[in-house]
Amino acid sequence: EGQNLTRIGLAGLAVMGQNLALNIAEKGFPISVYNRSTNKVDETVERAKAEGDLPLFGFHDPEAFVQSIQKPRVIIMLVKAGAPVDDTIKTLSVYMEKGDCIIDGGNEWYENTERRAAAMVDLGLQYLGMGVSGGEEGARHGPSLMPGGSFEAYKSIEDILLKVAAQVPDSGPCVTYIGEGGSGNFVKMVHNGIEYGDMQLISEAYDVLRTVGKLSNEELHEVFAEWNKGELLSFLVEITADIFTIKDDKADGYLVDKVLDKTGMKGTGKWTVQQAADLSVAAPTIAASLDSRFLSGMKSERIEASKIFQAGGVSDTFADQAVDKQKLIDDVRQALYASKICSYAQGMNLIRAKSTEKGWDLKLGELARIWKGGCIIRAVFLDRIKKAYDRNSELANLLVDPEFAKEIVERQSAWRRVVCLAINSGISTPGMSVSLAYFDTYRRESLPANLVQAQRDYFGAHTYERVDGPGAFHTEWYKLA
Ligand code: NAP
Repeated sequence: EGQNLTRIGLAGLAVMGQNLALNIAEKGFPISVYNRSTNKVDETVERAKAEGDLPLFGFHDPEAFVQSIQKPRVIIMLVKAGAPVDDTIKTLSVYMEKGDCIIDGGNEWYENTERRAAAMVDLGLQYLGMGVSGGEEGARHGPSLMPGGSFEAYKSIEDILLKVAAQVPDSGPCVTYIGEGGSGNFVKMVHNGIEYGDMQLISEAYDVLRTVGKLSNEELHEVFAEWNKGELLSFLVEITADIFTIKDDKADGYLVDKVLDKTGMKGTGKWTVQQAADLSVAAPTIAASLDSRFLSGMKSERIEASKIFQAGGVSDTFADQAVDKQKLIDDVRQALYASKICSYAQGMNLIRAKSTEKGWDLKLGELARIWKGGCIIRAVFLDRIKKAYDRNSELANLLVDPEFAKEIVERQSAWRRVVCLAINSGISTPGMSVSLAYFDTYRRESLPANLVQAQRDYFGAHTYERVDGPGAFHTEWYKLA
């Protein structure tokens, strides 16, 4: 083991690390691997053998692991974010030398990456924070990679990343140098926030179709499979179609109906919403998807509330309207698409605001390009976003790109019908409703904010501006009332 030095090392062999290591080895780069618990090292070595005698070498000892890699050494970490990353850096960095590079491939908070990168400078080590998306399959066969930090460090492993990333015909490997500092982690965080939005919107489409449209799982499968042939073609719509076909292996019926309606989460959605608030960027669709996860978690409270309100005469479909199924399916498809445009507009605006604040100079069109393959939000839709930013890199909002503006206008009647139907049926569609509200707010020249501003000046002398000229004004409203 390790007589010939390997090209790269990877520490942390859970789901993501194990699969990414095999992917790197399969692309022809000899790799050393290490994990705190040594059983995972042996497991990975076994898989490398089984999957075609891949050039992967396992180490139980961190020093031997580091020594086995050619200089300047590059080690990718894929461990739980937070303290485990600090622990792993501590374990490995003592054996590393000036010029070596550590890459955190986890879902890390971007400021932690910036703090660590600064600490590494003192040791003469380089540091990258690299978002990795695509789950188990992506890691194994081609993820979307979002590396940020030292450009020099990026260049030293670019050849590996270009081969390991997902390959999309006509648009290249799903990796690009994102920018300095923690920008790679930040962009991955917003990617996950957008992913929350997509999943929420899809689940609302499902809810309207099953609860109001009374579609069966078989019909839902047909609908989502059909949608996956058009403008909604995406990984998440594809797996949704699959889910409706899976029978329960423990009892009669479909598995999806046995899954408890209580959502888990690990923090990236919450960080996205917090960042949006910090930067004064409206991201209501993403926020609604986060709130929906919080509410879903309160299962026992919801059971109690449902009893109280059912007794009070409120039920899920109290309107119980007769609907034209085919028309409903078509309307919901359009509502889903229009809402999705709003959600991505919010995510992109958040990235741009952060880029401006930090001087990262992020290229929004490039981000859309590297999300076209490998990652969880991959979709044909992303090509339209890339093209929108190609047309105008300074685009204020995706909604006002001529193509997207046209698509929204074409879908707005269907979108309004779905939201009204849901409201009248007592079905909550927070993502779709709030996306529509975002559109209706953004597109209006005048908002009732004049009244809010008048109130602020009335009680707090906060002053106001006038519609007919510049300046700050204060009125003693209460004296005039
Ligand atoms: P994970 O469950 O997040 O983490 C498990 C790994 O962390 C194991 O290798 C574990 O080592 C190691 N670890 C935990 N505490 C440690 C410590 N104090 N010192 C050293 N090692 C420690 O693994 P994962 O799901 O593969 O994810 C890895 C990273 O990628 C995470 O940041 C995750 O958020 C991100 N990510 C995950 C996915 C996904 O689909 N799962 C997708 C994209 C990104 P032991 O075996 O010794 O416990």
